[in-house]
Amino acid sequence: MSISSGEKFRSLSAAEFFYRNKEIAGFSNPVRAIYQAVRELVENALDAADSHGILPVIKVSIDSDVVPERPDIYLISVEDNGIGIPPDNIPQAFAQLLYSSKYVLRQTRGMFGLGAKMAVLYGQLTTGKPVEVISSTINSSRIYIFRLSIDVKENRPVILYKASLRKESDWHGTIVKLFLEGDWNRAKPKIYEYLKRTAIIAPYASIVFKDPSNNIVYFERSTTLMPKPPREVKPHPQGVDMELFKMLIQSSTTKTLKEFLVKEFQGIGEVTANSIINTVKLDPLKDPRNLTAEDIELLVKTLKAYDNFKPPRADHLSYLGEEIIKTGLKSILKPEFVAAKTRRPRVYEGHAFIVEAGIAYGGDIPPAEEPILLRFANKIPLLYDESSDVTWKVIEPKSGTIKWDIYEIKWPSPLVVLVHICSTKVPYKGVGKESIADVPEVEKEVENCIRDVARELKAYIVRRRKEFEEAEKAVSIVKYIPDIASSLAKITNESSHESIANMLMDLVLKKFKNVKIKGVGDVVLSVE
Ligand code: ADP
Ligand code: MG
Repeated sequence: MSISSGEKFRSLSAAEFFYRNKEIAGFSNPVRAIYQAVRELVENALDAADSHGILPVIKVSIDSDVVPERPDIYLISVEDNGIGIPPDNIPQAFAQLLYSSKYVLRQTRGMFGLGAKMAVLYGQLTTGKPVEVISSTINSSRIYIFRLSIDVKENRPVILYKASLRKESDWHGTIVKLFLEGDWNRAKPKIYEYLKRTAIIAPYASIVFKDPSNNIVYFERSTTLMPKPPREVKPHPQGVDMELFKMLIQSSTTKTLKEFLVKEFQGIGEVTANSIINTVKLDPLKDPRNLTAEDIELLVKTLKAYDNFKPPRADHLSYLGEEIIKTGLKSILKPEFVAAKTRRPRVYEGHAFIVEAGIAYGGDIPPAEEPILLRFANKIPLLYDESSDVTWKVIEPKSGTIKWDIYEIKWPSPLVVLVHICSTKVPYKGVGKESIADVPEVEKEVENCIRDVARELKAYIVRRRKEFEEAEKAVSIVKYIPDIASSLAKITNESSHESIANMLMDLVLKKFKNVKIKGVGDVVLSVE
């Protein structure tokens, strides 16, 4: 058998690669595509506002019947009041894959430089229509309008239309409009759920959504308390590999190895730098650009093995905090009880992360055979692949790490568990950003954090039960109040036995403020 020598080799552009592998980024079919497109645009919109200290106002709409004889094509429009995009960056931001302002060590919802472009690419492939972007930055006196498509072969933006107009108001922000083939009816529950969860995690945002049937949902801002915006950080030496080390050398302006180590990493001061340089036996004055591959390998190895660094800094992370979590849960779920906990920062593989959890119980939450889990990473709701997520492994009632009966929970129970993981590097399982891998350090923190809030819930349940039992006791005694009151009235020559009865009743009711006593004044009394 002879082997053909006619194989043709060529490389793919990034756009062509993702065009062929759309499912990697979550665009696998018309149901997922419309959900994913909304999600990517909303996440960009929120990033553009809250990462810069602006209280977000986000308007989302989906319209149908926008192309004659194509009922499967929808128009998605997302508007924000964020910082806007400079006109020179708009074409690449929306029509060149792997172009991003988020390729730095800073906690954002985006990170792959793919989201907006995948939506544009999918829209272009299924409808042949360009994306429209309207944007104005905060200090600009003009509003820019672009219509763009992607040259897939070259991975370059094609500008089909460009215009600008003078700004008459102080509006700043971005509006993105794109057409795509979707399946609204099947995506509808997920999109609604996504927006509801976004409103829970960002109660400081005002979000309006209009669906294709012109139903309007308004998630009103319920607090003006906002998380501290994230800040960019230098890499921690223990999270660095050869490639990152080389990239840091390329972008650094430092002249000596010692200066390079001190300036480009967090947690390395003069003393630590000296000790590392001594270990590797290199010249501290050597120009970092002249380091050989062997030098770099040795340095990376030494940095990884050195165990005397300060832990990675976490003050750059943007966590929500207990107040915001509680407000979000209360305003959307209307439970009877909430608790929240933000844990101290921890580290995995040189990356700082913070876990926060919330618990909501009772009230409008329907009882179920398992907890309703609300997962978030860097403020993004994660909706798919729940069963493979690290948190599910912890809370699953049958085989999970947490045994709920310790916390007085018996199934069915009206229980919602919220978990938020934030980090400059969230250990997602795939670029679709849908579930979190079971990194041991993360798993432990998730468990501990849920236990923290579950303990508060337990205390509440125990307290309530005690109150309930006492109220039941009271109810059995309260029945005799009318008789007692009239006997007392006789003894004391008091004319109105009713005022005595009311007094005694008030005394009892004051004590059981939190327990509903039904039928007060009637003969039949019961406790709820
Ligand atoms: P990523 O969000 O991962 O960076 P995207 O393709 O979603 O990738 O977005 C690319 C870039 O476009 C972002 O990094 C951001 O700089 C810019 N961008 C996108 N949408 C907006 C928006 N609504 N407001 C401001 N900037 C935006
Ligand atoms: Mg994005």
